[in-house]
Amino acid sequence: MTDDSLLLRCITCFSLNRLPESRLKQRPLCGKCKAVLEVPAGPVAAVPANLDRDIAYWPETLLMTFTSRWCVYCKIYNPVVSSLAEERSGRLKVITVDVDAHPDLAKRHNVTKTPTFVVFKNGTMVVRMDGAPKDKNELITWVENLINYQSY
Ligand SMILES: [Zn+2]
Repeated sequence: MTDDSLLLRCITCFSLNRLPESRLKQRPLCGKCKAVLEVPAGPVAAVPANLDRDIAYWPETLLMTFTSRWCVYCKIYNPVVSSLAEERSGRLKVITVDVDAHPDLAKRHNVTKTPTFVVFKNGTMVVRMDGAPKDKNELITWVENLINYQSY
């Protein structure tokens, strides 16, 4: 079933709003409290204190990427992830974790190599990719399929 509507959680009152993807550009308001529904326009850096909540409260697809400044593959794939976050804003939220800055987060998610990609749907981990994909297209296809897969 294809459906152009998506779910957005209001960061003011935490209620879920369902709206057509096309309305994202028109500064949609929360149906309950009328606050502007904010959508990340690109990757956001992990804030450890808020991370569990940020994952649990994102009702659509969330991609967490674990990267390192020293990783050659990360330099190749970071821009791909950034474009996906911009182009699929609203559907996809990207949270980036620098494993050198946050070794505790890497350990908690059993990350042993970079890049590692961990995908959540509606707050639940569904799949992960440990290590670089074979090329950019593999990564893009993988993420797009996960965005389009509807389990509800
Ligand atoms: Zn609200």
